[in-house]
Amino acid sequence: MSSAQIRSVATLAGNICTASPIADAVPPLLVYGAEVVLQTRLETHRLPLSGFLIGYRKTALCPREIVTAIEIPLHHGWSRFEKTGKRRALDIASVNSALALTMEGDRLADVRLAFGGVAPTTVLARQTAAYLSGKTLTDAVIAEAAELAVNEIQPSATFAAAPNSGGC
Ligand SMILES: Cc1cc2nc3c(=O)[nH]c(=O)nc-3n(C[C@H](O)[C@H](O)[C@H](O)COP(=O)(O)OP(=O)(O)OC[C@H]3O[C@@H](n4cnc5c(N)ncnc54)[C@H](O)[C@@H]3O)c2cc1C
Repeated sequence: MSSAQIRSVATLAGNICTASPIADAVPPLLVYGAEVVLQTRLETHRLPLSGFLIGYRKTALCPREIVTAIEIPLHHGWSRFEKTGKRRALDIASVNSALALTMEGDRLADVRLAFGGVAPTTVLARQTAAYLSGKTLTDAVIAEAAELAVNEIQPSATFAAAPNSGGC
């Protein structure tokens, strides 16, 4: 992702704290069930990333709180990240997505799907994932999943900029 300069200095915490709907680390972290560790001088607590991102460029960070860790559970399955954009260089996504799943024989299990750039925040497509879990992939299943996914996103939503302190 991004330019050599950004890749060399940017942090995962910075990427999620921008709460951009097209931040590239967010879809993979969401499908892996990442948790964010938040710390003030006096206390530490954790939130699932899905609860940390609360709106367009808005996180649950409180004043004087910083992200000190992002914990990613080990995933023993398949995963995939895709991103598409208009620019050829320094490419920021128009849309990005991540998928994680395991296989039980020829059936999909524990499917998790996330889409960025299609709503004010990256969307965990829970209904689509629940529908796919336990299914064998066929053209009909893929078509139904695509229908469900379209209903879980809001690409035409107006993204209103808000100050980044909405969680407190
Ligand atoms: C040329 C260019 C290309 C880019 N390409 C991409 C791309 O392809 N994909 C992509 O996802 N993004 C891209 N970006 C956006 C951005 O650079 C990335 O999101 C990057 O990961 C931000 O990380 P950072 O550490 O530089 O955060 P910063 O820019 O330093 O910080 C971002 C925000 O997070 C806050 N913050 C940072 N760290 C913490 C912390 N630990 N606790 C609390 N708050 C914190 C800061 O105060 C700030 O509000 C690009 C930017 C540029 C300029």
